[in-house]
Amino acid sequence: TVAFGDGREKEQISRPWGSCQAGWRSMSNRPVPDMASDQAAVVGSFPPLQTYSEEENMMREAVKKYAQERIAPFVSKMDENSAMDEDVIKSLFEQGLMGIEIDPEYGGTGSTFFSSILVIEELAKVDPSVAVLCDIQNTLINTLFVKLGTPAQKEQYLSRLSTDMIGSFCLSEAEAGSDAFALKTRAEKHKDYYIINGSKMWISNAEHAGVFLVMANVDPSAGYRGITCFIVDQDTEGLEICKKENKLGLRASSTCPLNFDNVKVPEKNILGQIGHGYKYAIGMLNEGRIGIAAQMLGLAQGCFDNTIPYTRQRVQFGKRIFDFQGMQHQIAHVATQIEAARLLTYNAARLKEAGRPFIKEACMAKYFCAELATLTTSKCIEWMGGVGFTKDYPIEKYYRDCKIGTIYEGTTNVQLSTMAKFIDKEYDH
Ligand SMILES: Cc1cc2nc3c(=O)[nH]c(=O)nc-3n(C[C@H](O)[C@H](O)[C@H](O)COP(=O)(O)OP(=O)(O)OC[C@H]3O[C@@H](n4cnc5c(N)ncnc54)[C@H](O)[C@@H]3O)c2cc1C
Repeated sequence: TVAFGDGREKEQISRPWGSCQAGWRSMSNRPVPDMASDQAAVVGSFPPLQTYSEEENMMREAVKKYAQERIAPFVSKMDENSAMDEDVIKSLFEQGLMGIEIDPEYGGTGSTFFSSILVIEELAKVDPSVAVLCDIQNTLINTLFVKLGTPAQKEQYLSRLSTDMIGSFCLSEAEAGSDAFALKTRAEKHKDYYIINGSKMWISNAEHAGVFLVMANVDPSAGYRGITCFIVDQDTEGLEICKKENKLGLRASSTCPLNFDNVKVPEKNILGQIGHGYKYAIGMLNEGRIGIAAQMLGLAQGCFDNTIPYTRQRVQFGKRIFDFQGMQHQIAHVATQIEAARLLTYNAARLKEAGRPFIKEACMAKYFCAELATLTTSKCIEWMGGVGFTKDYPIEKYYRDCKIGTIYEGTTNVQLSTMAKFIDKEYDH
């Protein structure tokens, strides 16, 4: 059993990569050649980018199997009903996929950022909605608590986030999208507590969240330097989770507006320092973008994998449609783009993990993967012909799901602008 800080005791969950946790993880964390896929890796001292540590390999394989067995059967129903299945959520926690980088001391899996990226990719191959649930939890919420939480906050929240509680990240507002720090939600100080008033929009996973990380301004006269991150529990009086949006894609992932009507939050629920919320939001979204890149990469690969077998079976003019050169060139082109997207994503993740500058590369990965997902899903529908346009095949869902990649965690224009800032600087003399 594992003892949690809140006095609960829970059976240690049996996870396929259980033996990887904590103890020997640090020893096995260096990439080792994936012998099955690339013998050449052992020769050079710089392994190819698609080289995984033993633990990463294990996670990838186990999540692939888990997603096929436990998520795939629900995908179409969840999309149709615009609702995440409760059993799917439960199983994500059971598998340790909601606390990938959280220390086992708090019931987490104790793995790495790169593993999170691989998990998001694998989940997105099957359902991008499930992938974004896992992505936001791991790359934004958990990381904020791990990096900034006081010992008491960690004790209270990390053990829940890794085992049974979803968290939501609340930055955007109706008037503050790309211009996020124009946010108007206000937190007014009283004795040892704050009163939050305002509203948020587009909050992912809000329908199921137990905790919200809310960016609110404690001192509007200081502009964005007043933005502070508050931990708000779901059952706090005055917090209203409004009706979820009816979306084009990613329908199983709830996206809700929130209202804050005199929400009283104790001072101890400030995460990090007062006035540093904008820094935390920027920092987290820089990392988070690699997660969205992985989501779009997985989505594209999943769509491709569901399409190519059809082109190898479908016969027209007495030939498999795969055998027409006009088809082959398009297929090879998309396969190349997928490969390039994977390399950009893994490179950004490895840079981040190595503690090296990664922001430009993360923007490139997110931008490229979102474009790639749009290209791949569109082409796959064309390659399938009429049936690709129906709900008898999963392709049309990938096509709807991919569009969000160019919008959230910074639109495509925002990524391009950030890259351009770096490029401009690189040519300063
Ligand atoms: C499904 C979904 C889930 C989301 N989840 C979350 C969440 O969990 N938490 C959260 O806080 N937010 C979330 N968001 C919000 C998301 O991050 C914003 O939608 C996004 O930042 C864009 O803001 P906007 O929609 O207001 O568009 P706008 O900022 O109004 O942009 C509209 C267009 O104008 C362009 N534009 C804007 N400014 C510039 C500029 N300076 N230069 C060039 N072009 C520009 C944009 O690129 C875009 O094409 C979510 C959104 C969606 C749709």
